[in-house]
Order: sequence, then C-alpha cells, then structure tokens
Amino acid sequence: MSGIAAPLLEPLLSLFFPAHCAGCGRAVPDGINLCAACDESIEKIRPPRCEVCSQPYAGNVPTFTCPNCHGDAFHFECAIAVVRSSGVVREMVHRLKYGKEIWLGRVLAGWMNEGLDDPRLKNWTPDALVPVPLHPRRLREREFNQADILCHELSRICGIRVFSPLSRHRYTTTQTQLDRKGRRQNLRDAFILGKNGDVTNLNLLLVDDVLTTGSTLDACAAVLLEGGAASVRALTAARG
Ligand SMILES: [Zn+2]
Ligand SMILES: [Zn+2]
Repeated sequence: MSGIAAPLLEPLLSLFFPAHCAGCGRAVPDGINLCAACDESIEKIRPPRCEVCSQPYAGNVPTFTCPNCHGDAFHFECAIAVVRSSGVVREMVHRLKYGKEIWLGRVLAGWMNEGLDDPRLKNWTPDALVPVPLHPRRLREREFNQADILCHELSRICGIRVFSPLSRHRYTTTQTQLDRKGRRQNLRDAFILGKNGDVTNLNLLLVDDVLTTGSTLDACAAVLLEGGAASVRALTAARG
C-alpha cells in the first residue's frame, strides 16, 4: 500500500463502517463499545459477593462464602466475573456463540481484563490462560470455541499466554437426569489432559464465557490439579 493511501484508509473505512454499539447497534463515536444506555444497563458485580464464586450478596458483610461454596468445595480457588449475565451482556454472549459475531469477544474480554484487577487475582500471577474446551462435535457445529476467542482477546490486552492442555472427549447430554454429585462426576470424566498437557507447577487461569453452576470449571480445575498444576483460578466474561 502506498504512503498516501494508508492515512486515507481509516476515515474511509469508518465512513462505510461507522462504529456501532455492541449492545444495540446504534451508531457510537469511534473507540466506544457501548452507547450510554447500554452501558448504564450493565449489572456490575461489586462487593459484597462470595469470595469463591462471586455470587453477589445483598447484606452488609465485608467477606463471606455463599452456601453453594461451603463444604463441597470447588477445585478452583475462586471464579471471578465483573458483570452479570443479563440483558445486553447475555445477548452479546449469545450472539458470539450462536450468531458467530466473533468480534464481540474483544468487548467481553475488556470486562475480563477488569476482572484481572480483582483483589483475588492481584497477588497471584497466572502462567497461562486456559480455555475450557468444547467437545469436538460441538466445535464442528459451531466452528470455533468461544472460550478460545475470549482467551486470545484477553491475551492481546494483558500479555498472558494462552495454553490449551485440556480436551473434552465425551458428549455430556444426560446431565439433566443426574443429581449434583452425578453431574459433577459425569463432567469430570469428560475432560482429559491432551498430549501437550504438561501443567506441572503451573498457576493456571481457566477461562470460559459464563459461570452458572461452576461445575464445568470445577471439572476442568480438578483435571488440571490432578495433572500437577500448582493452583487454578477462574475468570469468566459474565456470571449467571
Ligand atoms: Zn447500545
Ligand atoms: Zn459461592
């Protein structure tokens, strides 16, 4: 490209492709992801929230662990998300996964990057970002793994490398008929460390799109710890 064409290209592109709000599609100034209305509608997760799973709590206590995280502890030390999976956020995750709007990964990764500032991740340096894998069949249907996209977009911002030691080998469709314990075991059996899966002594940050029950992240964390990982924490784009 000649030296004259390059400076002209950007304004020309924005003329044909003006910036749009990632939530509602309304035109926004360049460099802005969300219009003011969509931005205001986002439910941010602020303390007090469960130290383990980030479930917000309406009371006035500085730190607490929710009933879900008592006793039958998760294998990850904590799971962080800075926004709730509701409204515009929920739609964006849906559009990324099922509408193939890959570009939304960049916007979601922005919130994940905010999550890296959470006190629970501040004094802990992950060696790598680890995407929760999709089953190969689902990967063929969808053509991409949204957790991969989120990892790579986050990696571009924060510089932590992406490492994919996990693979998923069983299609877990019968989850609904199982109780909590059965669901956990079923999921746990679905993940294995792949051939390049040496995780010995690594501090790993598991990445997925949404945390709901935490059982998928738990299963992945269990496999990573069994494989010799030093510690596992989790970060998701949103929390259910
Ligand atoms: Zn909007
Ligand atoms: Zn909890």
